[in-house]
Amino acid sequence: MLIAHVALPVPIHQLFDYQLVVPAEIGMRVRVPFGKRQAIGIIVKIDQQSDLNINNLKSIIDVVDQTPLFTDSIWKLLNWAASYYHYPLGEVLFHAMPILLRQGRQATKDEVKQWQLTKLGHEIDLNSLSRAPKQKLLLSSLRNNTDHQTDFNKAIYCELQKKHLIEQIVEPSDINLWQNDFSANTTSIKLNDQQSYAVTTLNKQNNHFGVFLLEGITGSGKTEVYLNILTDILSKGKQVLVLVPEISLTPQTIKRFKQRFNAPIDILHSGLTEKQRLAVWLRSKNGDNAIIVGTRSALFTPFKNLGMIIIDEEHDSSFKQQEGWRYHARDLAITLAKIANIPILLGSATPSLETLNNAQNNKYQLLQLTERAGSATLAKQSILDLRGLVLTAGLSYPLIKQIRKHLSNNNQVMLFLNRRGFSPLLICHDCGWIAECPRCDRPYTYHQKQQKLSCHHCDSSRIIPTQCPKCGSSHLIPIGFGTEQLEKQLEILFPNIQISRIDRDTVSKKGVLDDYLQKIQQGGAHILVGTQILAKGHHFPDVTLVGIVDVDGALFSSDFRATERFAQIYTQVSGRAGRETKAGEVILQTYHPDHPLLKILLTKGYQEFAKVTLQERRQTQLPPFSYQALIRAADRNNQYAPMFLQHIHDWLKKNVNHNLWQVGPTQAIQPKKAGYNRWQLLLQHSNRQILQHILDQLLTNIEKWVETSKVRWSIDVDPIDL
Ligand code: ADP
Ligand code: ZN
Ligand code: ZN
Repeated sequence: MLIAHVALPVPIHQLFDYQLVVPAEIGMRVRVPFGKRQAIGIIVKIDQQSDLNINNLKSIIDVVDQTPLFTDSIWKLLNWAASYYHYPLGEVLFHAMPILLRQGRQATKDEVKQWQLTKLGHEIDLNSLSRAPKQKLLLSSLRNNTDHQTDFNKAIYCELQKKHLIEQIVEPSDINLWQNDFSANTTSIKLNDQQSYAVTTLNKQNNHFGVFLLEGITGSGKTEVYLNILTDILSKGKQVLVLVPEISLTPQTIKRFKQRFNAPIDILHSGLTEKQRLAVWLRSKNGDNAIIVGTRSALFTPFKNLGMIIIDEEHDSSFKQQEGWRYHARDLAITLAKIANIPILLGSATPSLETLNNAQNNKYQLLQLTERAGSATLAKQSILDLRGLVLTAGLSYPLIKQIRKHLSNNNQVMLFLNRRGFSPLLICHDCGWIAECPRCDRPYTYHQKQQKLSCHHCDSSRIIPTQCPKCGSSHLIPIGFGTEQLEKQLEILFPNIQISRIDRDTVSKKGVLDDYLQKIQQGGAHILVGTQILAKGHHFPDVTLVGIVDVDGALFSSDFRATERFAQIYTQVSGRAGRETKAGEVILQTYHPDHPLLKILLTKGYQEFAKVTLQERRQTQLPPFSYQALIRAADRNNQYAPMFLQHIHDWLKKNVNHNLWQVGPTQAIQPKKAGYNRWQLLLQHSNRQILQHILDQLLTNIEKWVETSKVRWSIDVDPIDL
């Protein structure tokens, strides 16, 4: 009797055994009885043994796939990752699949039909649809071959189908191999020596594993290097995966990829429907696309013939998943490259200290671009001492004066403030009551335009009270300022200037960002206000002044990575000033002009900052010179979570004596969130393997304890915020 050991998407560290009475292979999906229902699972192992009585095992109902679902590389990666992150294999495998596949849809192309024009649809006069403007628009998009899938709902397609103007077809496979007529459009750009060196080094790598760090200041031509390297890989018929922190913020980069290559490029973004997501997955597995550009989870897309991985802005913390399975997409991408034996290129103006350390140890090969491409020069940077100055919505008079000067030269100004909303506090003027989120015990942020209070910790919101619940006063006032208030103040100061605010509140609506970007690209006096998403990747040639409104929060955080993050954001933001031919200026407002970190950053730059900070981390034995795992626990009554962690602490102390360093249990930096009380225990060890082994031992015991079922707990391997 053959036994299939099946991984199911349940939060338990175990496989489930079934009798295997039909032919099946490892890696195929199966339908199995599970409790009172049926579930989709994946076969992980087949043998003749079970810890349970074989005769009592239920049989597999049917086999969903004809061939293993994942490619060999992705299969190996996911199995490795489940064990490294100590996360249940079933959850990991299912996380990596498009939702339709989790539900048991076939992984074949019949599942992803495409719309195409009928003969009538090609010929009909568009104006005959004037009374149905959406149908008209869709038909014209189909005719022009522009992207239509995210803009129209199904009903519109059906209307056109009823009129026999469009029909559904299964996408033809392998007929038009993109490889057959691949070409890269020529450009007038002549690479400089450093760029050429980077390109030749990667070309010479000849499709073997190797990690390369392309460290290039903003505007030094990294994207141009990517494009040149890709030309070589694509012309060999191989596919490429490009991971970026956030798709909606990189339209210009994607446009450059599309313009350069005569090859199918798929973009994996959050606006896709599940069907489109599956379609991209299948195209990639069949080798029908040349490039995928996507965020974090695009890493798990199977490729028929992957030739290279690029991680743009490798330092960005959005590559780390912050809930559920807390993987780091950059780290996993490196493992994938190793498994697939292909090169991987990490690009950044401000590499993470982990990556820089690996480059210093020659584990990664460092490629540097130290000059700005073309004729652009670096911006002049200065500190503005706020002590004793009067501020309006955070702006000091000297900064306002500079803004005025730059605008009058018909240039653009960018103001950076990492706090959205109108103000971070709403307070009762008579008794001091503060409007707080009851689920997090944290102040609500006041959003004036939306007329609501919103909790930035749990995303809940409520209407603005008209009266103080404590004393009945109606005198409630906003304290402090965020981007919304800054924008409003600027409108008063500069009534004739266009202002665009770019933060999560304004760009979440589709198309808004594109609109803004277009207006900004048109040039002319203009002010941009935004949070750190402004810092990511945009190319604004007319911005000559960057003002950093408030940095002090970042300088005095209890998280040892806060300074690294600030240095990265600062460097990225200030890199936005003065690209191309215009000289730029950066002004940083602070109450702590003598802070040593600011001094190093401003006078010596990110590289020197990184060097000094790495030395500090070495002396204090912090990552990357040690390895951490954070065990989090939360409960509603604030009793079991600390008990559970104390149990772990004591158990480790008694059973493990390998110089394990434990901090805690302590309350989390944010002790309450969405109704849960949060605690944590930090484990640190100088050896990664030993720490892994300790976690293995812990896991086999932890699930037997009584407290374990009473708390929400998780292990975060290589945590990036504590
Ligand atoms: P990064 O990705 O490092 O920010 P880009 O590749 O976007 O830099 O390059 C910045 C600008 O400089 C772009 O407009 C690009 O076309 C241009 N550029 C890049 N390399 C060169 C070069 N060798 N000569 C002239 N212009 C270049
Ligand atoms: Zn009051
Ligand atoms: Zn809350």
